[in-house]
Amino acid sequence: MISVTQPFLPPQEEYEKYLDGIWKRNWLTNMGPLASQLEMQLKDHLKLNHLLFVTNGTVALQMALKALEITGEVITTPFSFIATTSTIVWEGCTPVFTDIDPNSLCIDPSKIEDAITEKTTAILATHVYGNPCDVEAIEIIAKKHKLKVIYDAAHAFDVKINGRSIFEYGDISTCSLHATKLYHSIEGGLIITQNADLLKKLASIRNFGISGYDSFSELGINGKNSEFHAAMGLANLKYISDIHEKRKALTRLYDEKLKGLKAFRPRWHQKANENFAYYPIILESEDLLLKLKAELDKNEIFTRRYFYPSLASALPYLSKLELPITEDISKRSLCLPLYYDLTFEEVDLISRLILRIQNN
Ligand SMILES: *Cc1c(COP(=O)(O)O)cnc(C)c1O
Repeated sequence: MISVTQPFLPPQEEYEKYLDGIWKRNWLTNMGPLASQLEMQLKDHLKLNHLLFVTNGTVALQMALKALEITGEVITTPFSFIATTSTIVWEGCTPVFTDIDPNSLCIDPSKIEDAITEKTTAILATHVYGNPCDVEAIEIIAKKHKLKVIYDAAHAFDVKINGRSIFEYGDISTCSLHATKLYHSIEGGLIITQNADLLKKLASIRNFGISGYDSFSELGINGKNSEFHAAMGLANLKYISDIHEKRKALTRLYDEKLKGLKAFRPRWHQKANENFAYYPIILESEDLLLKLKAELDKNEIFTRRYFYPSLASALPYLSKLELPITEDISKRSLCLPLYYDLTFEEVDLISRLILRIQNN
């Protein structure tokens, strides 16, 4: 059996070493020393001034919308994970979907302005598969119309653009450290902003909006994360360059072995590095995708239709909108297995099988 992803696990004894300290201190959660240490090491690793370690990537998005006081309409992408849209609705706002760029698969900036109304307050866009949005174009539009920008950077850990972390873009960027992601703390998320005052506000929101023993400064939530999760984050961070290297090598092998495949790969932002978070292929047709997926399933090789269906046309709590490029791409995109423990032999086997099914 080959799954589409598998969490990275550090050597067990390295995780256990952190447990000794947790038992000694009996400090389990509420911004403990390991959570602080993880924040410091991540700031150092990502070359960022500010960052908060939070419960998960979904709560990170909710906190971002809350802290920026977003109301009314939020322009967003329908080609993303459900949390990108559901958090907008959860916060009482209305998602307004615009179509994606057929090459990058990120939101198409040229379609954003047409969707702006007097109720628009923000843009929430995803760096799809870690591939940066056209952040410069989005920034220009946002400035012109006085909109806030939030990036769902759940896939974009360790992506740099012009030598700077992609997390520096937008008013706030969020990341997910879920077990299925490239780098994880079992469950976890990050909130990044360049604005020190906003960071303070986010830190308060993370802790119920409590400002002192008997005072509250604003509406908050429980966005904290535990020492056990921080320990996994710390243990995994030590291996991040091994993780990148292995994923890169597996990706290059797929590229080489799948040259004959009737599919294209998303066009990566020219000024950014790849982080090899996923291996998406956009097949020539949905028929070919369904045929490949069914045959691979039979061989216990599991792929994922990431992202299908389009969030603009599939949610029971929103009216349906069919955006042509998203409808088309979402029907044809498939993510192949990619994770640290996947072997080169397995990539070779998967690739040969895929070509055999296609050519049958
Ligand atoms: C995983 C993911 C999230 C949610 O993150 P969690 O940590 O699972 O809550 C949000 N957006 C995107 C694009 C994701 O892939």
